Amino acid sequence: MRAIFQLFDLDNSDPELSREQFRSFQGHIPLLYGILLCNTVAITVTAFDRQHFARTLFSPLAICVFVIVRAIWWLRQGSAKQFDDAQIARHLGRTCAVPVVMTLIFNLWVVWVFQDAGAYARSNLTFFLALSQVSTVFCLMTLRAAAMRVAVVSTVSFALYFSWVEGGQLLPQSLVLCCVCGGMAVVTHSFNRSFSEVVQSRRTLHNRQLETEKLSEKNRRIAFSDPLSGLANRRELLARLDRFDEHQHLRADSLAIIFFDLDGFKQVNDEHGHQAGDELIRTVCHRLLEQCPGHAILARVGGDEFTVLLEADDGTDGAEAVALMLATRLLEQMALPVLVDRHVLQISGSIGIASNTDEKAHPRELLRRADMAMYHAKTQGKAQIAIYNEELDQGRLRSIEIEGQIGSGLGRGEFDIAYQPIIDAASGAIVATEALLRWPRRAQGSLPPDEFIEVAEATGQIHSLGLYVLERACRDIGKLPGLGLSVNVSPAQFRHPGFEGQVLNILRRTGFPPERLQLEMTESYLLTNPGLAIRATQALRAAGISLALDDFGTGFTSIHYLKSYGFTHIKIDKSLLNGLEPGSKAAMLVSGAILLASALDMNVIAEGVENETQAHVLRALDCHEMQGYLFGKPVPLSEFRRFLAPFGDLEEHAPGLRLVR
Ligand code: C2E
Ligand code: CA
Ligand code: CA
Repeated sequence: MRAIFQLFDLDNSDPELSREQFRSFQGHIPLLYGILLCNTVAITVTAFDRQHFARTLFSPLAICVFVIVRAIWWLRQGSAKQFDDAQIARHLGRTCAVPVVMTLIFNLWVVWVFQDAGAYARSNLTFFLALSQVSTVFCLMTLRAAAMRVAVVSTVSFALYFSWVEGGQLLPQSLVLCCVCGGMAVVTHSFNRSFSEVVQSRRTLHNRQLETEKLSEKNRRIAFSDPLSGLANRRELLARLDRFDEHQHLRADSLAIIFFDLDGFKQVNDEHGHQAGDELIRTVCHRLLEQCPGHAILARVGGDEFTVLLEADDGTDGAEAVALMLATRLLEQMALPVLVDRHVLQISGSIGIASNTDEKAHPRELLRRADMAMYHAKTQGKAQIAIYNEELDQGRLRSIEIEGQIGSGLGRGEFDIAYQPIIDAASGAIVATEALLRWPRRAQGSLPPDEFIEVAEATGQIHSLGLYVLERACRDIGKLPGLGLSVNVSPAQFRHPGFEGQVLNILRRTGFPPERLQLEMTESYLLTNPGLAIRATQALRAAGISLALDDFGTGFTSIHYLKSYGFTHIKIDKSLLNGLEPGSKAAMLVSGAILLASALDMNVIAEGVENETQAHVLRALDCHEMQGYLFGKPVPLSEFRRFLAPFGDLEEHAPGLRLVR
C-alpha cells in the first residue's frame, strides 16, 4: 500500500534529478499544452452549438487562453540554471497539481459538451478526450508523481462517467481506457526509474570526470612547479617561452630573461647541511618574489638557479632596461645577511640578462643567452650583473674548449711551475719565491695563466690545479732550505670545505716546513664569505703558515680589516707602482700603506718592480720585500736554481743567498 502511495508522491530528495525533470519539462510541457490546444480547438469545431455559447465557445476559449499562457511561461524559462533548488522543487510541486486540475477541468468541460452533442460529435469527443489523457501522461512521464496523478484522475473520472452514461453503452471503451491507463502507469514507472538511473550515472560520470580533472591539474602542478619553493620550474618556464613563440610576434626588446645564480650555495649545503640549504632557497625565493613585478614570472630552474621572465609594458622602457633595474634591486636584496640554522650567512648572486634586442632570437635562445651572461658574471668575480652580447658566445665556446684541455693537460703533465724571486728590500737577499703556474706543453700553444685560471675557477678544476701547484712547489723548493715559498690560492679553493686539511696533508707528505710557506689570496673571497674566511685563515695561521693579501690596492679592503683575518703580509699591486718616483702621488699612497701595515705588524711586499727608481723609492719608504722583473722574471726551476748558483751550493748556504745588483 505504501509502495502504491509512493508512486504518487513527489520526491524532491535529489535536487539534481529534480533539476533534470524540470529541464525535460521545458521541452515537454509546451508540447503538452500544444496538444491540449489542438484537441480543444478540434472539439470546439466538432461540437460548436450557437445555442450553447458558454459551453461550446467561451469555455474552450478560457481553456485555450490558460493553455497558451502556461505554454508561454514554460517557453520563457530559459535554462534551469537560473533557479535554485528550492525554486525548482516549488515549480515541480506546481507541475504535479496544475495538470491534475487542468485534466479535471478539461474532462468536466468535455462531459458538459457531451450531454447535448450528437452521436458523431460524441464519438469525436471520446476520441479527443482519450487522446488528451494519453498525451498528458506521456508528456509528464519524467515526473512520475504528476504522470500518475493525471493518469488516475483522468481515467477514474472518464471511466465513472462513461460507464454510467447512456445506460453503460460506453463501458467497453472505459475498460479499454483503464487498461491503457494501467499500461501507461507501468511504462511511466519503469521509464521514471531509467530516467533517474541515467541522471545518477551521468552524475557519477561527471563526478569522476571532475576528480580526474582535479587529479590531472594536481599532476600538472607537480610537473610544472618546484616543490621546495612553489615557484614555476624549468619545464613550466620552457612551456611559457614556447607559448610566446607560437602566438606572438614579439617586438624588439619586449622580452627579457634574468638568470640568477646563487654564489656559494653548494658550500652552505656542504657546511650546514641540506636543510639549511633548503631554508636558504626559501628565503631567497621570498626576497626575489617581493622584488618582482606582478606580471613577471619567477622560476627556479636548478638547485640554486632562478630566472625572471619579464615583458616590457607598452610605452615604457625596453625589457633590457627594466631587467637591469630589477637585477640591481635583486643584487641589493641578496647582499643582506640571511639567518639560516642560527648562522648568519652572507650570500650573493651572479646575474645574467638577455633580451630579444635583435628580434630574431627565439625565446628559448634568450634563456641560453641569459645563462651564458650569468656564467660570464660569475667568472668576473661574484655579485655581478652581465648583459649578453655576441662576444660572450665566443668566449664561452673558448672556455668550454679550455676546460676540456685542462682536464687532459693535468693527466698528461702539460703544466709546469715558474719561480720568481722575492728579495729582502734592505739586504737584497732572495728570501722567497712565488710559484706561478705555466702551461708550456699545451698542444694548442701556451696560454697565459690569467686566462686558463679564470676557466679553472669557474669549472672547479682550480682545486686539482691548485693542489698540483702546491705539492710540486713544496717538493721543488723543499730542496732549497731556508727559502720561503709563496703560492697563489684562488677564492674557489678557499671555499672548498676540506681545503685547510688538504694543505696540511701536502705539507706532511712533502715534509715542507709550514713556516716557510706563504699563501697568497685576493680579497674577493673575504668580502663574499667573511665568516668562513676567518675560520680558514685562522686554521692555516695556527699551523704556522703565513698569509699574504695579493693585489692590494685594487680592491676596497682596509688594512685594519685584513689584520682581523690573520694576514701577515700584503702584496702591493704592480698598478700602484706606476709612476713611482720620489715625491709622487704614487709614493704617498705606497708610503701610507707601508706605514699602516708596519704599525699592524704586517710585512709589505711590492710586486711588479721593474726599474731602479721604483726600487729606490720603495727602499726609502721602508718596504720590506720586493718582487719584479728588475730582480728576476718567473723562470722554470732549473733556471731558477742556476740563477741562484753564483751564490754557491744553495743547500749549504741557505738562507744567506744574495743577489748582487
Ligand atoms: P699574481 O699573483 O699577481 O702574480 C704576479 C704576476 O705578475 C705574474 O704574472 C708575474 O709574472 C707578473 N710579474 C711579476 N713581476 C712583474 C713585473 O715586474 N712586471 C710585470 N708587468 N709583471 C710582473 P703571471 O705569472 O702571468 O700570473 C698572472 C696571475 O695568474 C697571477 O697574478 C695569479 O693571480 C695567477 N696565477 C698564477 N699562478 C697561479 C697559481 O698557481 N694559482 C692561482 N690560483 N693563481 C695563479
Ligand atoms: Ca700572486
Ligand atoms: Ca699580484
